[in-house]
Amino acid sequence: MLLIGSHVSFTNKDQLVGSVEEAHSYGSTTFMFYTGAPQNTNRSKIDTEKTKEAFELMNKYGIDPSKVIVHAPYIINLANNKEPDKYEFSKRFLKEELSRCHLLNMHYLVLHPGSHVGLGEDIAIENIISALNEILKNSYDVTVLLETMAGKGTEVGKTIDEIKKIIEGVEYKEKIGICLDTCHLNDAGYEISNFSSILDEIDSKIGLNFVKCIHINDSKNPLSSHKDRHENIGFGTIGFDNLINVIYDSRLENIPKILETPYLGSNAPYKEEIEMIKDKKFNSHVFDKIIEK
Ligand code: FE
Ligand code: FE
Ligand code: ZN
Repeated sequence: MLLIGSHVSFTNKDQLVGSVEEAHSYGSTTFMFYTGAPQNTNRSKIDTEKTKEAFELMNKYGIDPSKVIVHAPYIINLANNKEPDKYEFSKRFLKEELSRCHLLNMHYLVLHPGSHVGLGEDIAIENIISALNEILKNSYDVTVLLETMAGKGTEVGKTIDEIKKIIEGVEYKEKIGICLDTCHLNDAGYEISNFSSILDEIDSKIGLNFVKCIHINDSKNPLSSHKDRHENIGFGTIGFDNLINVIYDSRLENIPKILETPYLGSNAPYKEEIEMIKDKKFNSHVFDKIIEK
């Protein structure tokens, strides 16, 4: 079965129940959520009753909870230890986030490796490794998935080699993995039209078994632009057919595919995008009705 979904919201009131209902409304077979707003660290207490209810709903809708993805907030930066307070805060918040995943019975947490803010890649990678080794030591049955980044600003994790160095340094190999992002790969200089050679490179340098999630986004910008601006499927520089090849690549068959494409005003594009993906057919007018609303 095709594992396709999008990021959905997780509100204080409905928590995971709301996330499951939203995913189901788009025709998704999986989903990703943030445990609160991605830009801040305000998090509500996990409601165990709601979590139980959400698991019953997933069962009803045919969503496999063991493949559902959590995304850590953007403000965690394990790369920069110039300001010890901020570095400690990032580590503490990531620990808390892993404990929330555990309470929610979730097994995968996507993390942006971080930005070196002038320290350079080598020191940044050392900082990320040492933080992860400290955090994963006594942690739960949750795997941290390092996301491949566009290389915007001083982002680390923009090349397969940088991701490889981090993974090599992490002692707890069963708790570390990779989340690919097609927009980020494109913006970092990897051609999605040559996706199978990207997978070959990951396989030979790290091992494809580390890849546990893939974000499916088109890009507003050309190859190597280092911008990180997502576009709706088929409306960007990567193009629909190249993204379909990624989604249906037999080597990623059991890996959840998550859309993080932009909203059209206040309307989510995911129901329409998922329909096009299931049909493998692009429709340039797919959003006309939504825009009129
Ligand atoms: Fe991300
Ligand atoms: Fe992403
Ligand atoms: Zn992005």
